[in-house]
This record gives sequence, C-alpha cells and structure tokens, in this order.
Amino acid sequence: MPGSLFIVSAPSGAGKTTLVRELLARDPGVRLSVSYTTRAPRAGEVDGVAYHFTDRADFIARRDRGEFLEWAEVHGNYYASSRIWLEEQMRAGQDVLLEIDWQGAVQVRRIFPQAVGVFVLAPSYAELENRLRGRGTDSEDVIARRLAAACEEMKQVDQFDYVIINKDLQVAAGELQCVVRAARLRTPLMRRRSPQSFFSAV
Ligand code: 5GP
Repeated sequence: MPGSLFIVSAPSGAGKTTLVRELLARDPGVRLSVSYTTRAPRAGEVDGVAYHFTDRADFIARRDRGEFLEWAEVHGNYYASSRIWLEEQMRAGQDVLLEIDWQGAVQVRRIFPQAVGVFVLAPSYAELENRLRGRGTDSEDVIARRLAAACEEMKQVDQFDYVIINKDLQVAAGELQCVVRAARLRTPLMRRRSPQSFFSAV
C-alpha cells in the first residue's frame, strides 16, 4: 500500500514541533523521521528520539556514503534526514512526516515531487516576538537573530502547498490533520490502495 510523505517547515518560533507532536498523538498512522544533527542535545532530548546526535566527522562520512536524503546547515549546525529509514518506511507503505527546514524541503521535493509541503506560521510578527521573549531563556541578541532569521525563512512560503497559522494549537492541529487526511485520498494513492473500486477506470 502506498504511503504519503509530508514535509513540515516553519520560520523559527512558529511552534512547529509542538504542532507536529499534537498531530502524531492524534494520528498514529503518521511516523516522524528522526534526523541526524551535529548540534548538542538540549536538556531532556534523548539520542535516537529527538535526533540522532553525532559529530561533524561522522555526519560527513554518512553524507558521503549517500545515507542522507537531504542535508542542510541551519544556525551553524548540520541536519539531515535518513534516506535509508525513509525508503524502508515507504516500501512498507507508511505515511511519513519530515520536520525539516525549507532548504531540506526543497531538496526532498526534487526527489519526491508528490510530497506534501506544509508551512507553519505564527499569527503575526508581533506575536512571534512575544513568543520568543515569553520563553525568558534567550538574550536580546538571540531574539533579534531569530526574528531576522524568521523574516528570511518567510520568503520561502510559496514553495509549500499549505499554510497553517498556529494561533490556537488545537485548531492548527485539526487543520494539519485535515491536510493529512486529504492527502490520503489523492487519486493515484486511492487507485493503488483500492483497485477493485476503480472497476471501469483502470
Ligand atoms: P532545532 O535545532 O531547533 O531542533 O532545529 C533547527 C532547525 O533545523 C529547524 O528548522 C528544524 O526543522 C531543522 N531541521 C531539523 N532536522 C532537519 C533535517 O533533517 N534536515 C533539515 N534540512 N533541517 C532539519
């Protein structure tokens, strides 16, 4: 049975990770790809769950062996999605979600043009600023850098099929669920999934 491939990207601070977590809780049929990264683990992040944490030498060796579907440098660290894992999942007909930055999204869409791209936005610039400050963990300098990065990342919005504005988490998660459900009903997938229903259109 064929599966669908979803890419979820967002400018910094839009709340993408929480939104994806909520989708996975609502829809166990979607599997999240665990990326490789050279960034250090944050408090509470478990190796193999949040990311496969690695160093630059190992990352580059894996990249050069062709283990990655895409890779990018984001905020000074390397990130990549596992090609091997993804191919296994697709062979098994699993729906897979990649939570990656826009540079990765562009690379994946080149390989899998049927992948469904979703861009998550904060409701406004002012709201984004509030959220970044509200965390109370970052210096003014870091906040300014993240806001500038968000403005740059925003320019990529037209590369994506769908936009979800993350004002209310439950509403946004419901919208993401709608995208997932609609993708599962696309004609080529339905034709392969249910050939008996296409009795005179095969
Ligand atoms: P963080 O370090 O905050 O978890 O993630 C930083 C950025 O890297 C986020 O935009 C995240 O979506 C992106 N990212 C995470 N994994 C991957 C990946 O495998 N490939 C790419 N291209 N970006 C990724």
